[in-house]
Amino acid sequence: MENRWRDDEAAEFIRKYAAQWGEDLALRTYASRLLGAEPDLVLHGGGNTSVKGTHTNLLGERVPAIYVKASGFDLEGIEPAGHSGLDLVPLKKLRALDDLGDETMMEEFRTRLFNPHAATPSLETLVHAFLPAKFIDHTHADAILALTNQTNGEKLIREALGDEVTVLPYIRPGFKLAKAVAEAFEGKPQARGMVWLKHGIVTWGETAQQSYSTMIELVSRAEDLLSKRATKALKVAVQTPAEKARGRVTQVAPILRGLLAQPSGDQDRPFRRSILVPLTTHDVLAFVDSDRGRELALTPPLTSDHLIRTKALPLWIDAPCYDDPTKLRDQLSKAVQDYSAQYGAYVARHAAHIPGGVSRFDPLPRVVLMPGLGALCAGQNAKTAGIARDIIVHTVAVKSRVAATGSYEGLSEEHLFEMEYHSFQQAKLGASAETPLAREVALVTGAAGAIGSAICEELLEQGCHVAATDLAGEALKNLVDELRAKHGERIIAVPLDVTDPKSVAQAFSAVIGTWGGIDLVVVNAGVAMVAPLADLDVESFRKLERVNVEGTLLVIGEAARHFRIQGTGGDIIFVSTKNVFSPGSKFGAYSATKAAAHQLARIASLELAELGVRVNMVAPDAIFSHGGRKSGLWAEVGPDRMRARGLDEKGLEEYYRQRNLLKATITARHVAKAVLFFATRQTPTTGATLPVDGGLPDATPR
Ligand code: ZN
Repeated sequence: MENRWRDDEAAEFIRKYAAQWGEDLALRTYASRLLGAEPDLVLHGGGNTSVKGTHTNLLGERVPAIYVKASGFDLEGIEPAGHSGLDLVPLKKLRALDDLGDETMMEEFRTRLFNPHAATPSLETLVHAFLPAKFIDHTHADAILALTNQTNGEKLIREALGDEVTVLPYIRPGFKLAKAVAEAFEGKPQARGMVWLKHGIVTWGETAQQSYSTMIELVSRAEDLLSKRATKALKVAVQTPAEKARGRVTQVAPILRGLLAQPSGDQDRPFRRSILVPLTTHDVLAFVDSDRGRELALTPPLTSDHLIRTKALPLWIDAPCYDDPTKLRDQLSKAVQDYSAQYGAYVARHAAHIPGGVSRFDPLPRVVLMPGLGALCAGQNAKTAGIARDIIVHTVAVKSRVAATGSYEGLSEEHLFEMEYHSFQQAKLGASAETPLAREVALVTGAAGAIGSAICEELLEQGCHVAATDLAGEALKNLVDELRAKHGERIIAVPLDVTDPKSVAQAFSAVIGTWGGIDLVVVNAGVAMVAPLADLDVESFRKLERVNVEGTLLVIGEAARHFRIQGTGGDIIFVSTKNVFSPGSKFGAYSATKAAAHQLARIASLELAELGVRVNMVAPDAIFSHGGRKSGLWAEVGPDRMRARGLDEKGLEEYYRQRNLLKATITARHVAKAVLFFATRQTPTTGATLPVDGGLPDATPR
């Protein structure tokens, strides 16, 4: 492992941060980021770091202080504020106690914060407080775990790191671990670091560079021993090509996503769904396809802080029947049921030993491993599912290395249970504040236009995962680049030509291959044209007919097939128009084709109700733009209408405003809000049309 410390970079951190935060925190920030940049050392909020110094209070007095990484912060990209400052003296005195529960300990941390608004520091804060060194680094390095998680783990650590480290058995993070660490340190103060079996490694130093460099050196020595010892590579008879595995993901994910949806008891929103992200890398396929894949997969996680993301064990599917969809579904369904029953038994075995009992979590797996496919990882959103996926990447790498050198030994079931049902760990998941569409996936057609872009924005703001689809090109790319800056990985661009059945099927597959399924389809793509019937040539009519009618048919048809496989209902929302009810002259092709599409959507509401799918329509009056995005309608009718009425753009908007009862300006955001009304299932409604027009008596649906 490379030592990435560069004096010029360190100096840059001092220039940037020292004036406000002091030189120690500036260098702490730099070294923490170096650790964070190495996924073989820490993953997603794993590991923690600290520095001791002083804090100047309001009276100008300098008091001893410790700055510890706050819980939930990632070392990668951490800022100085990511280390919370605490009053060190009273923290050190806690060592006199015999025991200290986590809740009280965390309250004590909050009491000792210098800044009452600072984030709560790590559960391992007292380890940092009790050790005397100025800088302390703690990681869950892959190479260290690959040695400690073996039957003769301590011996291997000694072989790799000699007498320079102290070795502690596994102790659950918290007060007891901190006390044990302090005692072990005092027993051997000349040690350069400490290894905690089945957990990780701690290094220290009087400078940030010293502590960091010791970490890199010790982990590198562990890596060297592993390479030297690697003799028994996993045997893979036939490895599945990644392309084939990805094809299977689109086949398996919707079935599995349906099976992993938890019934909620709410008739309007009957399922709590999850997002499923695939993992089909070469290494993972080699692992699941190997002779020892099953055996290794069903061993405990590398370290206990992984299991709130992955659960103690994955679900393993033996010999999946990819060629027989009915058999495959039965196989998956039975496997999920068995897993749930086993999870229930595991909770029952241990819950009795927890004072006050536990409220049990859902019994469903977070990670599903399948020969010939790789892994599917579940989470409440793409981010948490992605964290589980990254953990599996490292789990597979470490377990493969262990298999090559010796035999894997993970934490005992008691330890796993204790950690899984550890209230402080669960706080990391932040399950409380979930937005209404957080667990859902939407596909929006015609996304790059005015209404489509507003719908995407609204859905994203409600936590939804959104596949923005439109014809490939700049408009789609620009929209997604813009929204990605604010909403990150929850928005993807998927090129789609709604008139081409192959393109529609491919777009659905692309979304399923990203998030495991689709729950909401917004049929918004449409084109307009202005021509009196006398001048309307049949080819131009057919062009509208292909997009507005056939496009709607193809998208609804594909959605219906997908919803049937997924088995958790769904929503289709068709963006209709007031012209369906109140057509305008010279607007025959548009009004007639939209009316046909509207009728298809109504029929879908009849046919799909039995699947729990609701189909509703929103019918806006003219929308010409959203922000800088002009609608297709504008390009077609805007200039023409302006000319016909002798108005400019503002004047035309005013004309439309004046013609409705409420004298309201109708915006794309209004249409998006109407879509949201149906998407969040506020009422048990299907086959209905919600006008968004400020009140146009002629256009009221009847
Ligand atoms: Zn740790």
